[in-house]
Amino acid sequence: LRGYWNKEEKQLFVFRLEDHSKRLLESIKMVRMDSHLKYNDVTSSITKLLKKSNFNTDVHIRQLVFIEGIGPMNTTGPVGLAVAAIPSYRFYDAKKGINCSVSSWRRISANSSPPRIKCTANYHNSRLASKQGKLDGYDSIIFLNELGKVCEGPSMCLFMVRKGCVITPPVSSDILESITRETTIKLLKEYHDIEVIERDIDRTELYIADELFFSGTACEITPIISVDKNILGDGKIGNITTKIQKTYLDIVKGVNKDHPEWRTAIY
Ligand code: PMP
Repeated sequence: LRGYWNKEEKQLFVFRLEDHSKRLLESIKMVRMDSHLKYNDVTSSITKLLKKSNFNTDVHIRQLVFIEGIGPMNTTGPVGLAVAAIPSYRFYDAKKGINCSVSSWRRISANSSPPRIKCTANYHNSRLASKQGKLDGYDSIIFLNELGKVCEGPSMCLFMVRKGCVITPPVSSDILESITRETTIKLLKEYHDIEVIERDIDRTELYIADELFFSGTACEITPIISVDKNILGDGKIGNITTKIQKTYLDIVKGVNKDHPEWRTAIY
């Protein structure tokens, strides 16, 4: 999760704490952990830590639920919970945009290691692909799923603008059910009157897209300016990407006061 420091209000806002907590509980259920953790345990572990830490910067928060002790593979508990927070930084240059390749690694699939589950094991796939992309000279990568359709990036979802439409792969395309993805879809509708289309995307569509951007808690809204060395449009960050980037950042920071239900004030 991310917390955003609002200087004017001297307040730290955690973005969509409720939804992150609900998703964590769903993941616990899907991996069949025998967990005593309730919704309030999950949220208060974060709010308590942040209150004590007294940050006055943006923060990254990582929460980890794990099985304590040793047992056979089907061990379900006891379950522990760890939370850590550090001052945050930006992963990519979201002002300049990034260059991506389509990875030769396929995204893990719903029938082997379901991407819907937010578990650390799934990040191995993203790490392998990211590292390869970096070694090949790209900033990041775009995954195809086992069906050969475009699905997501390593820890971020993908949006494409083509012929005036904004398109994103559906939640059944081997992606994480991302909270930023949902936020982006809502904000595009509410502030820019754009109805996002959820459908499969082919690799070659990426090459002729007008705009592409990643969305995610960590990368926020990060423009993509080329894919497999095909420069998109005029190589500059597109109109819709620029608009949604501003709308998103204003909302998460509480500069735009709409959607107060998305921001948990810590102090
Ligand atoms: N896809 C994957 C594989 C991820 O790990 C993440 C990061 N949690 C995302 C998408 C973005 O999800 P969210 O918007 O909930 O951070």
